[in-house]
Amino acid sequence: MSDYVRCKSCGEWGWTGELAGRYGAHSCPPIWEARILETKWENDWTEVHARDAEDAASRFCERYDSDGEYSIIQDGGAEVEVRKLGEDEITQVEISAESVPTYYAHARRPEPVNPELKTAEGK
Ligand SMILES: [Zn+2]
Repeated sequence: MSDYVRCKSCGEWGWTGELAGRYGAHSCPPIWEARILETKWENDWTEVHARDAEDAASRFCERYDSDGEYSIIQDGGAEVEVRKLGEDEITQVEISAESVPTYYAHARRPEPVNPELKTAEGK
């Protein structure tokens, strides 16, 4: 049996079972550490799974905003610094952010016709 499931560690989607053999089993991207540049002395590094420095910075911002008050979205961006776990080299990344309007459509059910009213109107 195969399933396309969301990895509990990194949040990415991947195959399990026999389809993992065909398409390649999921492996989590490496761990990076990230923090907001402006408040770096007040906050600890946050660990995120990411493919590279920019990916790490944007994933960090996504989590930071959804755990807080969407301050990065409100400010239109942030400066973030990231480093690969266990490495000293720090990369500063500029983040620009915008919120995207989303519209959800749900068709209404037609209103039920009252059969008594219909016959009354027909007279
Ligand atoms: Zn994973």
